[in-house]
Amino acid sequence: MLTLDQRAIQELARDFAEGEIVPVAGQWDQKRAFDREVLDKLAGLGFLGMMVPERYGGLELDLATYLVAFEEFARGDAALSLTIHIQNGPVPVILLDHGTGEQKSRWLPALASGDRIAGFALSEAGAGSDPASMTTRARRVDGGWEISGQKKWVTNGGLADVMLVFARTGGADAGGRAIGAFLVDTDAPGYRVGKREKTMGLRASETVEVELDGVRVAGDRLVGNPSHGLRYALEALDLGRLGIGAQAVGIARAALEHAIVYSRERHQFGRPIASFGAIRSKLSTMATRIAASRALVMEGARAWQERASGRAGGDVPVTARSAMAKLMASETAAWVTEEAVRIFGGYGFMREFPVEKLMRDAKVTEIYEGTSEILRLVIGRSLTA
Ligand SMILES: Cc1cc2nc3c(=O)[nH]c(=O)nc-3n(C[C@H](O)[C@H](O)[C@H](O)COP(=O)(O)OP(=O)(O)OC[C@H]3O[C@@H](n4cnc5c(N)ncnc54)[C@H](O)[C@@H]3O)c2cc1C
Repeated sequence: MLTLDQRAIQELARDFAEGEIVPVAGQWDQKRAFDREVLDKLAGLGFLGMMVPERYGGLELDLATYLVAFEEFARGDAALSLTIHIQNGPVPVILLDHGTGEQKSRWLPALASGDRIAGFALSEAGAGSDPASMTTRARRVDGGWEISGQKKWVTNGGLADVMLVFARTGGADAGGRAIGAFLVDTDAPGYRVGKREKTMGLRASETVEVELDGVRVAGDRLVGNPSHGLRYALEALDLGRLGIGAQAVGIARAALEHAIVYSRERHQFGRPIASFGAIRSKLSTMATRIAASRALVMEGARAWQERASGRAGGDVPVTARSAMAKLMASETAAWVTEEAVRIFGGYGFMREFPVEKLMRDAKVTEIYEGTSEILRLVIGRSLTA
């Protein structure tokens, strides 16, 4: 059950998505870009700083309420929602948890207002599921750090003004896992946006390579401890995975809604295909799996909030809960969107109809922020530890 506040935010987000996203999402997919102005409109309503405290210009929503709103944006367009996710999730959360007072005052209002669009550069060509093996390095120099290396699959690559870059610092205290998190201006000398990937789905999202060639940053661009950046990234994944879970629920819901409308309108053998038991059975299982996924996401959010407020997170650790939520929701989205394509028959395979895009978009939710295999490892470890 949603609270009154959650319902109000949900309605605001749903109206926004219906008016500003749904009508153009297909065009964005075809031209491989969403309109930059949509970010200004989102910022104007506070949707780029949903969990940022009010004193820094945000809406100060709790995680569960944020996820309720976020599902609506993902239902509208998965590519845009990924940008919304990075701007609201991992970057401000790491700053809030580990940044200095000065960093929070400087960066959080800039993110919440949309003045600065953020990115998160952890993965490398040889370091995806195992980010501890990254090779990007940050070397101490007079007054700060010099960063060199290459990042892969960076979302918001060409759009971002500031990138949270993870780089090996070589600090002795954390051994091989000594990695720092640095706020890097994307117009800094030596920072280059490389190849833009041609992706199966999320085509309006910019996924790029980033090269850092001796990029100099001042000391105040290091967030937290120079050796603990990887820990911060992994902590942020607990929240990030709940976000991707909500994204997957949004995509799946869009597919179900299209499938219901189509199955009522499409006639074969003289009657709507919705009247056939086989189609109804598909729709029932789709709806049930979506509801179960959403429940797991919200349960994960509750556990995460309890942990954040210093209370126990229940019998299952938060990390395992958020992994379960993403696993269930992403596999549900992949399956539901495929079923929706089947319900559309031949039309489902056509670009003019909305479900093939949803099927392409759903796939990546099983990959980023932890593949399904990695999530099963995380859950299995917590069961057998
Ligand atoms: C569209 C898109 C956007 C992205 N955006 C970002 C971003 O903004 N920032 C960022 O830092 N990264 C981003 N990523 C990267 C993403 O997080 C990684 O692709 C993901 O973590 C998987 O890493 P990998 O691709 O190197 O796969 P690999 O780690 O090489 O995995 C390959 C296969 O091996 C399996 N595998 C690996 N290790 C194990 C194991 N121990 N046990 C069992 N199976 C295993 C995997 O499950 C997978 O099936 C993005 C990726 C995509 C596709």
